[in-house]
Amino acid sequence: MPIHEKSLIRPENLVTHERLKLDGVDVSGHWSTFILPRVITDYNEQMQEEIAALPGGEFIHRCWQCGSCTNACTVNAINPDFNPRYWIYLIRMGLEDELLRDKDIIWQCVSCNKCTYACPRDVNPEGVMKATAHWLELKGHTEKKPSMIFDEVFAEQVFATGKIEDGRVLRQFFARTGQSLLQDWLVALIRGLLSRLPAGLMMKLSLATLFAPRTRGWHRAGNAIAEYVAERHAADRRALGLKGGAEQ
Ligand code: SF4
Ligand code: SF4
Repeated sequence: MPIHEKSLIRPENLVTHERLKLDGVDVSGHWSTFILPRVITDYNEQMQEEIAALPGGEFIHRCWQCGSCTNACTVNAINPDFNPRYWIYLIRMGLEDELLRDKDIIWQCVSCNKCTYACPRDVNPEGVMKATAHWLELKGHTEKKPSMIFDEVFAEQVFATGKIEDGRVLRQFFARTGQSLLQDWLVALIRGLLSRLPAGLMMKLSLATLFAPRTRGWHRAGNAIAEYVAERHAADRRALGLKGGAEQ
């Protein structure tokens, strides 16, 4: 019998015998394709609860598996393995090992929120993807991914100055991720800006990149936000039973 949904079976679970005769009938090769049985014993019964405790994951329990999020997903259109509906299913079932197989692509969500608008149950799948990537990092399953490093650099700049200066964010992001500043797209962008923007504005942008001006009276507001974020991080760790999550 042909396997209609072969793409859903992990390749290592498919076994084919090159030479096999059964009751005198030659069923070598394709005709002897077997699917190995899968026995799951290690459900993580806390997984849904833990991801729901992280920002963005709150409404995961509402999912009814319609698949609208995956159908609408920008990244899924390029990489069919990027499947928010499937990951939400694995989380709700506590199938941690299965989820870990995809740990290196879950963070690739680009936060376009097309899934969020398509979802009929207000699950906020974009938030669930962010919470899942965060959960994977907090649990030590993945190292910090570039999108998380970008968020950190962005937030640090807001705490420090109350402003965002794109040039400085990019410079620090490339430095922390060990990338060259001379990216082709960046060079093309700067060339375009140089040829189009008035000289006065370019000068202002360059000075802002070099001297990082602060919003007036930002000190107290910046400290209050940084304090809130630290409390939030401690609460996340507490929800997952990790060190560094002591009561505030
Ligand atoms: S926010 Fe992420 S999961 Fe949702 S559609 Fe965009 S890329 Fe896909
Ligand atoms: S669109 Fe919403 S309800 Fe449907 S599978 Fe995705 S998250 Fe679940």
